Amino acid sequence: MSHSHRVLVTGAGGFIGHHLVTYLKKLGYWVRGVDMKRPEFCRTDADEFMVLDLRRWENCVRATGGVEEVYALAADMGGMGFISANHAQILHNNALINLHTIEAARQNGVKRYLYTSSACVYPEYRQTETNVTPLREEDAYPAQPQDAYGWEKLMTERLCTHYREENGLETRIVRFHNIFGPFGTWTGGREKAPAALCRKVAVAKLSGNPRVEIWGDGEQTRSFCYIDDCTTGIYKLMRSDYAEPLNLGQDRMVTINELADMIAQLAGIEIVKVHVPGPQGVRGRNSDNTRLRQVLNWEPEISLEEGLARTYAWIEQQVRAGIATAAEAGTPAK
Ligand code: NAD
Repeated sequence: MSHSHRVLVTGAGGFIGHHLVTYLKKLGYWVRGVDMKRPEFCRTDADEFMVLDLRRWENCVRATGGVEEVYALAADMGGMGFISANHAQILHNNALINLHTIEAARQNGVKRYLYTSSACVYPEYRQTETNVTPLREEDAYPAQPQDAYGWEKLMTERLCTHYREENGLETRIVRFHNIFGPFGTWTGGREKAPAALCRKVAVAKLSGNPRVEIWGDGEQTRSFCYIDDCTTGIYKLMRSDYAEPLNLGQDRMVTINELADMIAQLAGIEIVKVHVPGPQGVRGRNSDNTRLRQVLNWEPEISLEEGLARTYAWIEQQVRAGIATAAEAGTPAK
C-alpha cells in the first residue's frame, strides 16, 4: 500500500478512535487524528493531531481537507448512566458533528466515509426480554430506539445513505455492539459496564471490601466485543463494497451478573453483588452476525475471557495508580 494514502480519524482522542489510529498506522497509512481532546492514557500514533470542536463547520472543513478517507467516530457519548440522562445535549452535539463532518468531507472531495453507528438504533420493543432474539440489521425498522443517542445514530445512518446515492460519496455504516478494552474511559460517569465493573472489582480487591454494586437485578443481557476485533472489523468494512448498515459485535450473550463474576474470577477474589437502582438500558440485546459473516467472511474472534483479562489488568493498574497518587496527596482515593 502507498504510504501517501491519507486518512482522517475523528474521535481520535477517544477509546476506539485511539486504537484505530494505531491500527491504521501499522498498515502504513498517513493518519490525521481530530478530537476535542488528546488521548488521556497514552500518546497518539497519529502523524498529525488537531484539537478541534467538530460541532463547528469551519473546523470540519479543516479536519477533512487533504484526506482521501474519513473514519467518523467523534461523538458525545458514554455508558447508560450518561446516555439516559442527557438526551438534548447528545442529540444536539452529535447531529451538529455529523451534519458538518459529512458535508465538509463531500466539499473536500473525500472518497470514502465510514460512520460508526450503534446497536442503540434497534427498537426497544425487540429488546424487552433477557432471552432476546439476536438483532438483524433489518430489525431497526419500524424505528423506536430507546434514547436520543440512538435516534441521532439512525438519522445519520440515513444521511450517509443519501450522500452515497445523491452525492457519490462512498459511505460505510457500522453498528457496534458494546466494544470494550484497555485505554477506554473507566471512571467519571461516562464509562460503560465492562470498564465500570472492572473498576469496582479492582477497588473491592485492593480495599478488601467485597461489595460490588450492580445497577438493577443484573439479569439484563448483552454481548461484548474486544477492541482489537473492532478495529479489524472497521477496516474490513471500509475496504468492502457493502454500503448498508452492518452489525459489528460478538453474538455470545451474558448477563451483567455473569460479567461481574467473570471479572471477579480474573481478579482472584470472591465478591458480594449488591443490586441497587440505576439505569439499565434495554432488558436484553444480542447481535445477529449472519450478515457480518456473509459480507466480511469474518467475525470477531477474541473470546470474552481473553478480552476481559487484558482489560481488567489495565484497569487494576489504573486503580492502583489512583490509590498511590491519593496516598501521596493525602486525599482519599476515588
Ligand atoms: P469515546 O467517548 O471514547 O470517543 C468519542 C470521542 O469523540 C471522544 O474522545 C470525544 O472527546 C470526541 N468528541 C466528542 N464531541 C466532540 C466534538 N464536538 N468535536 C470533536 N471531538 C468530539 O467513545 P468510543 O467508545 O471511542 O466511541 C467511538 C464511536 O463509536 C462513537 O461514535 C460512538 O457513538 C460509537 N459507538 C461506540 C460503542 C462502544 O461500545 N464503545 C458502541 C456503539 C457505538
